[in-house]
Amino acid sequence: MRSAPGSVKPLQTNATPARRIKRQTIMNQATSPKINLLDFTSDGLKRFFQERGEKPFRATQIIKWIHQFNIDDYSKMTNVSKALRAELEAISEIRAPAIVLDKASSDGTHKWLLRLDDGNCIETVFIPEDGRGTLCVSSQVGCALDCTFCSTARQGFNRNLTVAEIIGQLWIAKKVLQPDPSSDRVISNVVMMGMGEPLLNYDNVVDAMTLMLDDNAYGLSKRRVTLSTSGVVPALDRLRKQIDVSLAISLHAPNDELRNQLVPINRKYPIKTLIDACLRYLDGKAGREKITIEYVMLHQVNDSDQHARELVRLLKDVPVKVNLIPFNPFPETRYARSSNNRIHRFREILEAANMITITRKTRGQDIDAACGQLAGEVNDKSRREIHFARIET
Ligand code: SF4
Repeated sequence: MRSAPGSVKPLQTNATPARRIKRQTIMNQATSPKINLLDFTSDGLKRFFQERGEKPFRATQIIKWIHQFNIDDYSKMTNVSKALRAELEAISEIRAPAIVLDKASSDGTHKWLLRLDDGNCIETVFIPEDGRGTLCVSSQVGCALDCTFCSTARQGFNRNLTVAEIIGQLWIAKKVLQPDPSSDRVISNVVMMGMGEPLLNYDNVVDAMTLMLDDNAYGLSKRRVTLSTSGVVPALDRLRKQIDVSLAISLHAPNDELRNQLVPINRKYPIKTLIDACLRYLDGKAGREKITIEYVMLHQVNDSDQHARELVRLLKDVPVKVNLIPFNPFPETRYARSSNNRIHRFREILEAANMITITRKTRGQDIDAACGQLAGEVNDKSRREIHFARIET
């Protein structure tokens, strides 16, 4: 059942009961007792004000201050009465995760390491391109899905992010990159493609994306908000009935045998089941809509001519564009990046079959680690520190 906004949701964790109690204690010590207004959609905030005997239009005012103007100080909300500001100050706050590290690359790419109330860290990345800027947002601390080429997977699953922690990544990035909110938009696109599987944190991700689309908040078009999934089919069917955003599928293999190895959730929802769900997702949408297929290029694993031809056959009746992603190696990985020539040849085969194909540029190499690697190292270290602290006491 869905929790009311502002209430404390039960932690979802794979920790043992004893570890869970300890971790919960650590969280409660660090968590503020105030209600975080970043946790609310417009509708949630309307209910919040109605329950306090205030008019619902207050919600629109406050949502605009928070998300359009990046204001977290009630004293600056000049169209709100002093009495209401004082009441809000007493019971609530507007609090995004804390910036631990802000790394800017020479090519304009930004990577933030953000610390959450419980000490865990997540990553958010901004990638500027000609005429647009894309923010890659995390949805979980770690991930349970264990894709074998993924750095985040090595952390295991810790917990889902709250709405405030998800939308807070956009709030922070906008505040840093666009200090004057009335200037031209810097972040034009958001992809739910950072750490975690967004469809396994369904309610919070949908609420955060609702704010991204909300004209009183970020006002992004539905074509510019993309949810990327490794294929949680039942949640995909639920999503299409609830919110209209663009869809990306982490496919990475053209057949079940290989995908079972690379993306283990494929054993539960094989490729045919996933593609059928994609077609249902597109059903009823405007004809120009396409699903983005993400395909990480792994040397001598999934990058042969034969794999490319198989991919063409697999997707011939599905409106897709294919994103070929040069693998970003991380320590102890068993995989290597395909050569540029191999990626080029693979792409030629897809294009010869009239498939729109893009090779993702490697960006921010001077600041980069594979997605999730930086946060993983910090999370591992902080867990060790907590562990040592317990031993010492
Ligand atoms: S690729 Fe995505 S779904 Fe797979 S383990 Fe990594 S974060 Fe999770």
